[in-house]
Amino acid sequence: MACERFQTEGMKLLDGELAGDERLRYEEHVRGCDVCANELRDLGRIVDLTQELRLREPDEAFWDQYWRGIYRRIERGIGFLLLIAGMVVVTGWGIFEAVTSPQFFTFKGITITVILVGLVIVFLSVVRERYHESKDDPYKEVKQ
Ligand SMILES: [Zn+2]
Repeated sequence: MACERFQTEGMKLLDGELAGDERLRYEEHVRGCDVCANELRDLGRIVDLTQELRLREPDEAFWDQYWRGIYRRIERGIGFLLLIAGMVVVTGWGIFEAVTSPQFFTFKGITITVILVGLVIVFLSVVRERYHESKDDPYKEVKQ
């Protein structure tokens, strides 16, 4: 007749719920019972595997997120640099054109200059804000 003690006491033992005399008595039984010994070994292996899987999963998810965060930061960094370079060239050209134009001191020339100066101020403000944001929380992208 097959022993079925592993189904109750064996599971408890693996879960760490078997204590005191109960545990000692069952361990004594396992030493003389092949059914319980085999069953415990198999169940023990399954428990170990599920724990392994549980540990590995968040780890992979973390690194996945981490590299995606790094990639996004690099991508945005390059985009931001190109944007700055483009803005500097366009603004510099605009101001040069305005100042060297014979129409500079006309209504049109002054309006264009005022718009360009406004753009530069807004742009510098955004750059400063972004710089402070990234300095305050350098892992913001990674945590998401
Ligand atoms: Zn048994």
